[in-house]
Amino acid sequence: MLKTNGYAAQTATSKLAPFEFERREVGAGDVLIEILFCGVCHSDIHQARNEWRNSIYPMVPGHEIVGRVKQVGVEVSKFKEGDIAGVGCFTDSCRSCENCKNDFEQFCLVHCSQTYNSTEMDKTTPTFGGYSNQIVVDENFALKIFATQNLANVAPLLCAGITTYSPLKKFNVREGQKVGVVGLGGLGHMGVKLAASMGAEVTVFSTSPSKEQDARKLGAHNFVVTKEPENMKPLAGKFDFILDTVSAAHDLNMYLNLLKLNGAMVIVGVPEKPAEVQAFALIGNNRTLAGSGIGGIAETQEMLDYCAAHDITSDVEIIPIQQIEEAYERTIKADVRYRFVIDMQSLA
Ligand code: NAP
Ligand code: ZN
Ligand code: ZN
Repeated sequence: MLKTNGYAAQTATSKLAPFEFERREVGAGDVLIEILFCGVCHSDIHQARNEWRNSIYPMVPGHEIVGRVKQVGVEVSKFKEGDIAGVGCFTDSCRSCENCKNDFEQFCLVHCSQTYNSTEMDKTTPTFGGYSNQIVVDENFALKIFATQNLANVAPLLCAGITTYSPLKKFNVREGQKVGVVGLGGLGHMGVKLAASMGAEVTVFSTSPSKEQDARKLGAHNFVVTKEPENMKPLAGKFDFILDTVSAAHDLNMYLNLLKLNGAMVIVGVPEKPAEVQAFALIGNNRTLAGSGIGGIAETQEMLDYCAAHDITSDVEIIPIQQIEEAYERTIKADVRYRFVIDMQSLA
């Protein structure tokens, strides 16, 4: 077994602290990745604090992983030693069910082995995430990363990037469309960059007036402060597509009313408590309300290739692992510009 160092939450209320654990030996189809950077997703906070009521402890969070391949198994062909590789939200699945065959491994009908707060395919061995110095993963579940891009800025693509790219593609967001992005955090700022790159006119809906200048730099054309209800009224029925990335309870109906005929709103944020939806907010204009969960391996690679081709990465604040609790508090206060990324060298 491989002795590994990380940071773990021991309970829902304890602070993250140094934790030593073991990873499996490098199997024939595995790669061993020395983790260089790991993004801090709001999902890490929800889970470390058991807000989704499904937490397994001790928990080593982190699913926006970029690192260098240190060792490859004898059957590995996709990577060689020294390559840069990424790991996202899951590290294995059955590979043969209908959903896996259709490139939706995240919805594997047998078991999707998530990168942390989950188990391996044996449904017993706990998985530990990227707030650690190394990870062993089957080559089929590792992503190829372009070493020419700044790796700290690439890490958040592995979750925030794919989670926003996937619904924008599915709903065919394109030039000539008006797109709203609700919440300018880690996911939201990627949603803005990606939707703008696809040619849409992007409006950010934010509770933070101080983010307006940044929003425009990220590619947004309009910025609406949602705390002022009068700001919303003139926008009723104007939008083709809205991406809701908000991590806390909020009113969905207010945004549904902004959709035009056949417009769609996709929820990617996961607040702790359920929301109320008025039937009339959906019935009017034949609106669609949908959800979207990360993306499969093929689509994640497609997104990474797209971001490399369009020179898109995340805006990050790099922190040592010792500052993780402060980063969590600032993220909860919507005070992250726009993703914290842990420099894993700080773990040494
Ligand atoms: P984040 O960086 O904390 O961003 C969330 C943003 O939502 C904040 O920056 C803030 O933007 C806004 N917000 C926060 N509290 C709010 C409130 N009470 N009312 C209105 N707006 C509020 O979080 P993230 O990492 O982007 O993740 C966002 C959500 O997506 C989380 O719930 C996370 O678990 C979930 N997620 C889902 C998937 C998936 O596959 N569906 C994948 C990853 C993450 P403003 O300051 O602009 O208002
Ligand atoms: Zn995430
Ligand atoms: Zn499957």
